[in-house]
Amino acid sequence: MCATVWQKKLGYDNFIELGYCRMNRLCYGRQEVAEFRQNVLRDIVPAVSALRTENAKRMGIEDYKLYDNEVLIPGGDPRPCGKDGIFAAAREMYHAMSQETGEFIDMMLENEAFDVDSRRNKWGGGYCTEFVKYRQPFILANFDGTAGDVDVVTHEAGHALNAWLIADNRFALELDCGGMETAETHSMSMEFFAWPYMEKFFGDGAPAYRYMHALDAFSFIPDGTAVDEFQHIIYAHPDMTPAERNAAWLGLEKSTARISPSRAYLISKRAHAGSTRCIYTKARFITLTTALRRPRLHFLLASLDDYEGAFSKYMRFSRQGGEKLWTELLAEAGFVSVHAGRAGRACLAHRNTA
Ligand SMILES: [Zn+2]
Repeated sequence: MCATVWQKKLGYDNFIELGYCRMNRLCYGRQEVAEFRQNVLRDIVPAVSALRTENAKRMGIEDYKLYDNEVLIPGGDPRPCGKDGIFAAAREMYHAMSQETGEFIDMMLENEAFDVDSRRNKWGGGYCTEFVKYRQPFILANFDGTAGDVDVVTHEAGHALNAWLIADNRFALELDCGGMETAETHSMSMEFFAWPYMEKFFGDGAPAYRYMHALDAFSFIPDGTAVDEFQHIIYAHPDMTPAERNAAWLGLEKSTARISPSRAYLISKRAHAGSTRCIYTKARFITLTTALRRPRLHFLLASLDDYEGAFSKYMRFSRQGGEKLWTELLAEAGFVSVHAGRAGRACLAHRNTA
């Protein structure tokens, strides 16, 4: 296989070693990933399993199928208040959070730094970038009327806020906002700092949104970890046949069968890794995205105890950009490891109001 040839020509045994190098990580590696995987199996899989099984009962689903995994709210997901309403709510929200975030959102809106209307031939998805010379963040998105539209003014705006905060940092040109883990902590944590303001976006649907958001974030951790382990297996054995790859995936599905009721269905059907497209299209380790969901849960839990205190820690975290390692920034904020029981309770706390 040509991929095997070129990674060996570069002096690597296989893609695993090269893949870790390409992630440019300085603060954790293969051993920490293996430990993280064990912690997820031990602590998070049972908690997610219990929550998903309970939610299936709430929705009256007895014979759980794979496609039920995406449905979290009886009667359908809550929908936000439309484009104008979302921007008006975002302005109110950021002004209520702090004076600094108020100045940030005014700057973004006055400079028309959002392009959110879907149109023919437009680039898909959503992201935030910045024009360094002008100290100007810019957000591209494609609004579609779903709860995902609100992510644009929470998640993407979390990236934009960071770019604005570090615009005058003399290290930022070289170190930027830090690694991907640090960057996604900026954005994903902002999604949760926006929780107290969700009534502005969803009206009566806000409790359902918070429940859906927490359960979705928590549920992804075991799924992402399984995909990461699968990537390690196939990179270690690049000559595996498609049948052997499917067997490896099936083995992982079985080991994480307690994740959700749908797992049993997956195993009984023709489960194969091809159902998770990014395994093949993104040659990198998904642990990144899994691991970085934990810090946003850290900030969520901290904000439920002491919103103001957690928010000032978040602003300090963001203001430093890439000056410190991700793990150092987390330690400075007082976070060492996520406690599955507490994260699970954060979901449960919102279950009865959803
Ligand atoms: Zn992001």
